[in-house]
Amino acid sequence: MEILVGKMAGFCYGVNNAVTKTMEYLEKSNKQVYCLGEIVHNKQVVKELEEKGVTFIDDVEQIIELNKENKDITVVIRAHGEPKITYDVLEKNNIEILDLTCPSVLTIHKTVEKYANMGYYIFLIGQKNHPETIGTYGFCKGKCSIIENIEDIDLSIKYVTENNLKKVLIVAQTTFSLEKFNKFINKIKEFVNKYNAVEKTNNPMELEIKNTICNATKLRQEETNEISKQVEYMIIIGGKNSSNTKKLYDVSKENCNNVILIETYKELQNEDLIDKIKKSQKVGIMAGASTPKKSIDDVINILKK
Ligand code: SF4
Repeated sequence: MEILVGKMAGFCYGVNNAVTKTMEYLEKSNKQVYCLGEIVHNKQVVKELEEKGVTFIDDVEQIIELNKENKDITVVIRAHGEPKITYDVLEKNNIEILDLTCPSVLTIHKTVEKYANMGYYIFLIGQKNHPETIGTYGFCKGKCSIIENIEDIDLSIKYVTENNLKKVLIVAQTTFSLEKFNKFINKIKEFVNKYNAVEKTNNPMELEIKNTICNATKLRQEETNEISKQVEYMIIIGGKNSSNTKKLYDVSKENCNNVILIETYKELQNEDLIDKIKKSQKVGIMAGASTPKKSIDDVINILKK
């Protein structure tokens, strides 16, 4: 059996930076460390950090309450980032922040804030409940519609036309599907061209498009596409609640009939499944941005055995 492992499999630089810097901080600091939300969508990494002393909390208000009893608190902001109000609340309460927002996400925050100040309305293409999208939305000063599916485009366009808004900036969640992003952009452009042709004003609607999908995500999706075309069985490793991992599964499904998404090698310890995989001449492996190297190596070892 030949095993093709994606070169892009595993931690992206943003996640690697967040996990490494949190570990380093734990070693040198005696403070109680809280992280807002899971540091990555990966149970193994979360468990390891918990064992080293990090407490994961979803609600910033809870941290404010805890700070009343213990002033020695540091709050980690994970790679996904947080809305502006989170920083404001923490700073107001003099809580130390270890900001590990991925530099690519920070750039989006700065961009939307700048354009919102310049009078632009923002179309943020992304998943409405994704923490990164919620964080970015929080820098748009309320001038933003989130577009998750094609129906949201109509509503967002209705909003800008009814409110006579003429300047629109489009950005995307860094892990959004490139294919869907392009599809949405085409639909929005089509509308704006028609609108400007009908209105024939001296003040046409301006569209500023910034493809903010992360390069690591793009490359990983492209490589997954290539590998899944060549293999009979494709194994995707990563958190089942991780958006970028699920996308790798979807991409593979388009090319390969046998695709599984697993969190750890333990899910492969099933005789029926192993039998099916064993019949394949070529097996592909890809992993999401939040999957540690160890999880990938464990799967490779099981296959080799
Ligand atoms: S996927 Fe890209 S943007 Fe998101 S954390 Fe990783 S490197 Fe940063």
